[in-house]
Amino acid sequence: MTSNTPPDWLADDQKHVWHPYSAINSGLPIFPVASAHGVRLKLSDGRELIDGMSSWWCAIHGYNHPVLNQAVTRQLESMAHVMFGGLSHQPAADLATQLVAITPESLQSVFFSDSGSVSVEVAMKMAIQYWQTKGAPQKQRFLSLRQGYHGDTFGAMSVSDPVTGMHRLFADSIPQQFFVDAPTRAFGDACDDDDMHAMQAALDAHHADIAAVILEPVVQGAGGMHFYSADYLNRLRALCDEYSVLLIFDEIATGFGRTGKLFALEHTDITPDILCLGKSLTGGYMTLAATLTTTEISHTIGQGDPGLFMHGPTFMANPLACSVALASTRLLLDTPWQENVARIEQQLQQELQPCASLASVKEVRVLGAIGVVEMKQPVDMKTLPQQFVDEGVWVRPFGRQVYLMPPYIMQADDLSLLTRAVYNIICKI
Ligand SMILES: *Cc1c(COP(=O)(O)O)cnc(C)c1O
Repeated sequence: MTSNTPPDWLADDQKHVWHPYSAINSGLPIFPVASAHGVRLKLSDGRELIDGMSSWWCAIHGYNHPVLNQAVTRQLESMAHVMFGGLSHQPAADLATQLVAITPESLQSVFFSDSGSVSVEVAMKMAIQYWQTKGAPQKQRFLSLRQGYHGDTFGAMSVSDPVTGMHRLFADSIPQQFFVDAPTRAFGDACDDDDMHAMQAALDAHHADIAAVILEPVVQGAGGMHFYSADYLNRLRALCDEYSVLLIFDEIATGFGRTGKLFALEHTDITPDILCLGKSLTGGYMTLAATLTTTEISHTIGQGDPGLFMHGPTFMANPLACSVALASTRLLLDTPWQENVARIEQQLQQELQPCASLASVKEVRVLGAIGVVEMKQPVDMKTLPQQFVDEGVWVRPFGRQVYLMPPYIMQADDLSLLTRAVYNIICKI
């Protein structure tokens, strides 16, 4: 049943509610969702859209999954939340143990927080407190890549791309960090001295002040959907060790299978000192993030002044979120996710390739379950979302990137509808 009248609440939403990176009453289209199931979002007017976004990398198993629903309802019967100061619960311990088991052996200590941005703040504070205890209190700054994205809080903004990020607006409040150009070598290629040169020079000049290098391994997400040489990271690890600088991997977007490996770091031969996870951690059910680090770092922080790690969110390790994260991780490991992602990768490669010959398109690139059509010009966000909805799909481009990152459960026919919609719309630009 479809009706064209928008629901009553939509006017209130437009009047009072901010959406991500938006203005109140912007006049830009906003689409009311009534429910979501599998790979489909159902709008209030009854129309169904095939979801090409996984709700920003998160809903890897699709929506309304019986296993994840059950994890939440079961946990709800015993407790929704208790404070984590001085108290603990099994969902947190079980999830931490699971995360330690599936990430590199050296990462043994887990700090839970409420969002990806906060997990980045936590990683940065860990690095600073570590060096403080080590007798290097001047190491308080960070080195990062241009085109990176690490979140919207102040510390996270400070290490995100200084141009497309928000540095200009908040110039006087953002800590000043160091940046080098992102590697130019593509994913799959070896890295050469040219690419390492900027990183080496920055470390050589500033290592005494740098606590850590922070970057997104292999895939730079919201900063431009850029895929780069994994070999760069192997060489970066050696440089970090040489200059006594920690290495933080932000896998908030890439974690849990999206690039074809369980974690993007598995494309490299090395491990970071600190790892940030979020987004698909709960399969898209709830907000939860985790910062993992080594025993060396967690124990060192515990020996310093004040002998505590100075962070403690009110909703730390929320039991509902931990339960669904544990269920989502087990579900992922129990399903042939690697085959699914490989199948999606192959299909995206095949079906997005025709876009590459369109005049408006700069490049098509695919890695794992991520398909990107980079346009020559930024897309028009006033008209494009409506056009995708009219094609029966949910795709939300940004800047010059029109991209797909479907739930891993998406079947071939639905994925074809998605890629065809992308082609049909782009070919008119
Ligand atoms: C989304 C994202 C973040 C921020 O996570 P939030 O949960 O939105 O705070 C940080 N880093 C990367 C790589 C991301 O993709």
